[in-house]
Parts: sequence; C-alpha cells; structure tokens
Amino acid sequence: MEDNILKIKQIIEEQLARVERMKANNTPTDFAALDKIIIGAAAGDGIGPVIMKSARAVLEKLLADEIASGKIEIRDIEGLTIENRVEKMQAVPDDVLEQIKQCHVLLKGPTTTPGKGDGLPNIESANVTLRRELDLFANVRPVTVPEKNIDWIFYRENTEGEYALGSRGIDISDEISMDFKVTTDAGTKRLARAAFEYAKNNGNLNVSIITKANIMKKTDGKFLSLCYEMAKEYPEIKTDDWYVDICAANLINDQINSNFNVFILPNLYGDIITDEAAQIQGGVGTAGSANIGNRYAMFEAIHGSAPRMVKDGIAEYANPASLLKACEMMLRHIGYTNKAEKLCALVDEASAALDMPGDGTGNTAAEFTDFILQKL
Ligand code: NAD
Repeated sequence: MEDNILKIKQIIEEQLARVERMKANNTPTDFAALDKIIIGAAAGDGIGPVIMKSARAVLEKLLADEIASGKIEIRDIEGLTIENRVEKMQAVPDDVLEQIKQCHVLLKGPTTTPGKGDGLPNIESANVTLRRELDLFANVRPVTVPEKNIDWIFYRENTEGEYALGSRGIDISDEISMDFKVTTDAGTKRLARAAFEYAKNNGNLNVSIITKANIMKKTDGKFLSLCYEMAKEYPEIKTDDWYVDICAANLINDQINSNFNVFILPNLYGDIITDEAAQIQGGVGTAGSANIGNRYAMFEAIHGSAPRMVKDGIAEYANPASLLKACEMMLRHIGYTNKAEKLCALVDEASAALDMPGDGTGNTAAEFTDFILQKL
C-alpha cells in the first residue's frame, strides 16, 4: 500500500513538472529562416523498410535540387528497430533519440510495440516515447473520400490522456489493476488552438469536439469545456460536440458524415476514430499522419509494422501510399507546398491506376514507386 502511494505521488510530481515544461516551450520552428532543413528518416521494422525505400526514392527525386544545393538533407536514422530496442531495453535508445533531435523533422516507418503474449519484454511504444520526448502534441490526420464529399481532418491530442502514463499503471493487488488518464489545461488548449486555427485558415470549417465527458467527468469534462472556451475566440466557426460512441456511428452514416470537417479528440478516442476514418478512406495503408510540436515534427503512416505480412513473405506488397501521404504533410509543414501538391496528385493517380490490397496479390510497393518516379 505504502509503495503504491509513493508511486502515485511520484506520478503527480512528474505531471506537475511536465505542465511547467509545456508552458516554457512554445516557440514554433521557422523553417523559412533555416539555412538547411534536416529530415531524419527512420525506417522502423516490419514493413517499415519496404515503404521507407519507396518514400526515400520519391523524396530524393522530388527534392533533387534542394538536396544538391544543400538546402535539404535527408539523413538516415539507424537503430529504431524492435531488435535494437529490445537489446537496449529502451523504447527509443538514447543514441537514436539524440540523432533524431539533431534533425528538424522526422519521417518515421512503423515500429513494433511489444504486447502481452508476444514473448517480447515490456518496453513502451516508440511512438508514445517520441511524442513525449519531442513534445509532439498534435496528431493531425486528414481523410478524404471525394465521391462521398467527405473531407475530414482529425486533431488528436498526442501526449496526454491514457497514453501519458500507459506503462505506469499499478497492480494494487493480484486482483486489482489501475491505470491513469491525464488532461491538462496547457495540453488541451494548444491542441484546440491548432485545430481552430486550421478551421479558420481553411474557410471557417465546422469543428466537432469528441469526448465521453458524460462518463469521464474530470478529464474529458475539462477537455470539453476548454475546447468550448477556445471556440469563443472563433465566433464565426460552428462548433458542436459528440460522444465518441455516436461519433463512431456518425462517420459511417452517409446522411450526415459529409457535414463534419475538423474533429478535436483526446488521445485514445483519436487513436480509434482515426483508424475507422482511414478504413472509410480505403484502408490504413492509404493514410498518413503528422505529429506536430513547436520545435520538432514527425510524419508517419497511421498503420503499424504489419508483422503478419512479413511472416507470410508478402512485405513487398505493402502499400507505400500511407508513408507518401506522410511525406506530403511533411513537405507542407516545412513550406514546400507546391511539391506537396505535386506528390499528392501523383499518389492519388498511382492509387487509382494500381491495385494495392496488401494481401500478396496486385501490385508491389516497388511498382507503385516506379509509377510515381516515371511521372516526376
Ligand atoms: P497494423 O497496422 O500493422 O496492421 C493492420 C492491418 O493492416 C494488417 O492486416 C496489415 O497487413 C494491414 N496493413 C498495414 N499496413 C499496410 C500497408 N502499408 N499496406 C497494406 N496493408 C497494410 O496493425 P497491428 O497488426 O495491430 O500492429 C502491428 C504492430 O505495429 C504492433 O506491434 C503495433 O503496436 C505496431 N503499431 C505501430 C504503429 C506506429 O509505429 N505508428 C501504429 C500502429 C501499430
């Protein structure tokens, strides 16, 4: 009992210190002012190296002039593999984190997270660690389905909620386990600000706040009221809120789903709802995501390392569109909007022309890549 009280006390102290760090670190990187932009490229594991090979080839051709002039460097980051992470017993080994911090943005392949029963030691998710270490507070995921008039963008809180202390839960006894969920004013406001700014800058899009505030009264209750507080600064934007369960249903309700534009969600609901949304778009292999902080940003596919594809010997059939969509978001973030639009059009063209079910039939990642390279 005493032991658990000490653990809880330590958790509270750490969270109070984190809030102070958040408040101190709020100057965004000005990419236009940099002499050189360094893009770190970490392939990850599973199908990661296959889709990273594609992304790298496309970026090298698309950014050939900038790379030649030294304005952009694409730097390989080794060691973000499950083997190395298990060997070092660190979610992101210190030397790898140090290399990542030398870059301005990170393009990241999927990374395996050990789960119960897979025989791997209990190390934390590399993503959760990177989001926390680099303070990447907004996970931004666009989803479009033009034929259904669907144009959504999700702003998922990325550093708090159930994930902040996901591996710090406590077994009170053999029969009781507890986890913790954290919501802070500073963490919620910076996410809400980013979402409302996006809505404003894109023609006053509708904003929907997604919670389960009727049940999680403290954490989701705070999240909901802070987002509505922020909405008052944007009176021209129509803001509403939904519970996460009905939100999941609404996304597949064709009578109303095209009315939604910008979603703001706490961490766990954002994780689940964005996978559902990606499936509506055409599968997790088609969706990219951005993890945005003030100093750093990380761009990746929304899916995982697909270990079964590797086990079945069909990794070459992984769809690289997901990571290429992440490249598109990265190019926009660092100020290369024209290149991003060119890439977006080519990925859409390749997706329409090729068949990428990811089940060992249809086209391979290499064929998808070649299709784009030939048109660049
Ligand atoms: P997954 O996303 O790896 O796979 C889900 C399904 O989607 C599988 O059927 C897979 O074959 C398919 N798929 C995934 N990417 C594809 C692609 N590019 N092309 C075609 N099909 C694709 O989910 P999972 O099996 O639940 O997770 C595997 C591992 O990845 C776990 O260890 C998990 O923790 C980790 N993970 C990592 C990230 C990340 O690094 N951002 C995200 C999610 C899961």
